[in-house]
Amino acid sequence: MNESPSLANLLKEERRFTPPAELAARANVTATAYEQAENDRLGFWATQARRLTWGTEPTETLDWSNPPFAKWFADGKLNVAYNCVDRHVEAGLGDRVAIHFEGEPGDTRTITYADLQREVSQAANALTELGVTAGDRVAIYLPMIPETIVAMLACARIGAPHSVVFGGFSADALATRIEDADARVVITADGGFRKGNPSALKPAVDEALTRPGTERVRHVLVVRRTGQPDVEWHEERDLWWHEVVDRQPEQHTPQDFDAEHPLFILYTSGTTGKPKGILHTTAGYLTQVAYTHHAVFDLKPESDVFWCTADVGWVTGHSYIVYGPLANGATEVLYEGTPDSPHKGRWWEIVEKYGVTLLYTAPTAIRACMKWGDEIPAKFDLTSLRILGSVGEPINPEAWVWYRHHIGGDRTPVVDTWWQTETGGIMISPLPGVTNAKPGSAQVPLPGISATVVDDEGQAVPDGGGGYLVLTDPWPAMLRTIWGDDERFRSTYWSRFEGSYFAGDGAKKDEDGDVWLLGRVDDVMLVSGHNISTTEVESALVAHPKVAEAAVVGATDPETTQAICAFVILRGAVTEAEGLTEELRTHVAKQLGPIAKPKRILPVAELPKTRSGKIMRRLLRDVAENRALGDVSTLTDTSVMDLIQAKLPGAD
Ligand code: ATP
Ligand code: MG
Repeated sequence: MNESPSLANLLKEERRFTPPAELAARANVTATAYEQAENDRLGFWATQARRLTWGTEPTETLDWSNPPFAKWFADGKLNVAYNCVDRHVEAGLGDRVAIHFEGEPGDTRTITYADLQREVSQAANALTELGVTAGDRVAIYLPMIPETIVAMLACARIGAPHSVVFGGFSADALATRIEDADARVVITADGGFRKGNPSALKPAVDEALTRPGTERVRHVLVVRRTGQPDVEWHEERDLWWHEVVDRQPEQHTPQDFDAEHPLFILYTSGTTGKPKGILHTTAGYLTQVAYTHHAVFDLKPESDVFWCTADVGWVTGHSYIVYGPLANGATEVLYEGTPDSPHKGRWWEIVEKYGVTLLYTAPTAIRACMKWGDEIPAKFDLTSLRILGSVGEPINPEAWVWYRHHIGGDRTPVVDTWWQTETGGIMISPLPGVTNAKPGSAQVPLPGISATVVDDEGQAVPDGGGGYLVLTDPWPAMLRTIWGDDERFRSTYWSRFEGSYFAGDGAKKDEDGDVWLLGRVDDVMLVSGHNISTTEVESALVAHPKVAEAAVVGATDPETTQAICAFVILRGAVTEAEGLTEELRTHVAKQLGPIAKPKRILPVAELPKTRSGKIMRRLLRDVAENRALGDVSTLTDTSVMDLIQAKLPGAD
């Protein structure tokens, strides 16, 4: 039998950060939550479901009689939009700010819960007038503006599952998503603002709708955002949002939907291949996003200002801009633009302006800020911040420590949250008032979540061991299927290990049993009989003062099976001096041992990333192995690959 080696555990991180005493004393969730959930997992989730306001209370928590198809709270009914908006107004909180909107050009809007109720009701009435009924799919292709949130909530209100497509995607990507979901209406805008200029969106919709498979789209509802002239118009199909929505009644009576009614379809980022249409449903999803937002960010809705910098087009935006925070009655910031427009301090200016207390962002953004220089955030007053979150990729310990120090003033806990489009909500994360934090580790499954690390045979590895991350029990916000493809759902996630959900990520447990995410299973390298994680080598490189960012892949090698090949971005002022790559190779060998010493190191200006900011190692592997590039449909900028290819020895 061929037994493959287990994932090596090379990186040792000794730094520890205890929760601030004051935060711990007032924390929403304390250590007892783990015990409660441990003793009665389903009872725990049934209790969390009471955060929601139900039209019909559920009597049943989980139906797992037909795995892997779960039903949560199946006999309950509720309306998601009512839970995110109306109930707060009814509780007397209509004047509370729901959204502080900051447009890229500097225009702002303050939207209270009462405003949101009126706008969502009008949009729901408009969709109904356009013939959208419960179950019809609506594609949303918008910039980061309040109408995006309004449109999503309006869909939820009338039971029409939305499929939000990131505004930066091409007509092709939009067309395949419209076709796959069989959408009947598309909601878009003339354009959005990007790096100081209006950037058109409507032409991509027009083009997408010429593609076969999109014929069933009846209407395109267009928000006027940029006021660009010459918007192409199809009279029989296109409608201005302001003409249709603004004249609608401001009242709309929400109807309750079954707990398992489809809420949305969302395509994964495409880091490892062709994106999958992930289906989420109503009540379990809302329960988990509301609970995790309350627990992981310790949200105090009356005083906190929450800001999640993700795009609404990603799951992070769905769960922690729209559904979680609004279900919890939070006040939040919505920012349209990029972090460096018009200057590299724009985010920190926004934190200062709105007194942001809870910030949730991605390692890619943190590493960009490290590269731009410490002096930029130092110019702003960031003392309002009390908790910092990270999501999307493993956060290198060095980036974690930088984030806590330069953004969090060494006061704030950092919560590294592991989850996926498929999981719907946060799964593994420290709790800010409980956990002694370790830079680089997501640490422990949240209360009510069962996760572990297993070997090839599906056996849990002992502390100190490495392998595959699996989820061993169903959870409320779990995907219900891949849209239209139950078989792919089963084979992708449920066939590798009997009875467990296979996440596709490599992980290890340290001596304390804490979980460290080590990158995609597909990316793990096999070097001279050792499985080595890309993440650990990257983190060692980023720990070198001259390196801002690193991507590591295993390239086929005649002697060692695979050889470690590293692509690095140097920090601001550092240039490619002679001896640098040798210095970096030695540094890695010293940090992780000689087995992890990269064979090749290539300084590059940019790395290939998905539109959601994740490094696409599979493309770098294609380059390192001289192959044609795989699916690049979700890559931000294909010219990056040309630049990298040009730097390879042998390229002309
Ligand atoms: P695809 O599945 O199409 O390849 P994707 O996995 O990049 O795309 P997402 O669902 O957006 O799409 O990303 C989830 C993945 O992001 C996780 O499986 C994991 O690899 C990574 N990830 C997210 N948060 C963390 C984290 N805190 N630590 C480590 N990895 C993380
Ligand atoms: Mg994935």
